Amino acid sequence: MAGAEQILHCVCGATRPAPVGMRTLSCPSCGRAMTPPADLPTPAPKRWLLAAATLVSQLLAIGLFTLALLWMIRHGDRSYLMVGFLVAGASGVFAGGSAHRGWTGALVGCAVLDLALSIACLSGAEHVKRFVAVPVVKLAPAFTRVDLAVAITGVVAAVAATACLLAIPQARRFAAWHDQRIEQAARRRG
Ligand SMILES: [Zn+2]
Repeated sequence: MAGAEQILHCVCGATRPAPVGMRTLSCPSCGRAMTPPADLPTPAPKRWLLAAATLVSQLLAIGLFTLALLWMIRHGDRSYLMVGFLVAGASGVFAGGSAHRGWTGALVGCAVLDLALSIACLSGAEHVKRFVAVPVVKLAPAFTRVDLAVAITGVVAAVAATACLLAIPQARRFAAWHDQRIEQAARRRG
């Protein structure tokens, strides 16, 4: 079929006709490579809830990690429990990063950690308050509202756990978009 044409598109919005079979041409207005519409990169899907949920989860995990570290280095508590909190805090930070890039499993992990922190903080248990109060009072003796701070952290963690679960569709869409982009890039190179 001589003379068959297709329309090539540029990311800047320009279009130009080209013979079928010609995969790329430079754009007349901006000079970037033009591609058939199927190869055009689609914009990244929105992930504001995912971003907010994973950020709050990471901050909570950093808090847990910091408190456990203070217990270990300043109060000499090197029990398995403190090591466990340290590992849980570090894992929470990494999980938050992976979840933000669309890994649903890590997002569920963030939700579980947030939920556990929420239950611990809202339980009113004395050993939870002590876990927070001892290092905090040593660092900031003027700070007397540890009870309130623990309660607020519990509420924030409950909201974060819920937000993580509600953000699962955004994570799935982002992961699908990301896979599609990798696939497109591979096709263009191939
Ligand atoms: Zn262009």
